Amino acid sequence: MRPLAVGILMAVVARGGSPSHEQFTVRIFDYAPVPSATLQQALLESQGIFRKAGIETTWLTCRPFSEENQACAPILPAQTLVKIVPRSADKQMLASGAFGCAMRSKEAGFATYVFYEPVERAAHSAPFDPAVLLGMVLTHELGHFFGLNDSLGGIMLAGFRRMEMMQAASGSLSFDKDQAKRLRRSIDARARQLK
Ligand SMILES: [Zn+2]
Repeated sequence: MRPLAVGILMAVVARGGSPSHEQFTVRIFDYAPVPSATLQQALLESQGIFRKAGIETTWLTCRPFSEENQACAPILPAQTLVKIVPRSADKQMLASGAFGCAMRSKEAGFATYVFYEPVERAAHSAPFDPAVLLGMVLTHELGHFFGLNDSLGGIMLAGFRRMEMMQAASGSLSFDKDQAKRLRRSIDARARQLK
């Protein structure tokens, strides 16, 4: 009878909480490597922005080139892969100073990339805490991964300045209502596809 009990419990939770939460797991492979405290703070920042959109995120970090030298468990199909690398291998992207990109096709693979050197440079010249900008970029690129386009404001803005970094640090930079809804739908559709 256990599965039935679990089913009832979940139904109660879904009815009691508003709005019902989607969730996804991010696997971070940090090849930059980003200083440990900066990465931790960036993940908390991103987690907070997704939470405001009604989405719970779990972050599992693997840092192959850091002193911790962890073994990295293989990535599961349901997990969303984010690779943090020092810079883009693509010349055009490198020249444009892009902070990251999201790949979502059979040909290009399914992964989100963040380029840490341009992120760190932009943060320093703002000047602002790189952890804040890194959290913004992670969230923005994951937004692309789940099908959102750039927008004229909020976290999907196509270029972050000091003003947006200050908004993010104060917790007021977010997905708008429509973006949040589309994100939840996309995360839900992906979870169903993988079932
Ligand atoms: Zn973008």
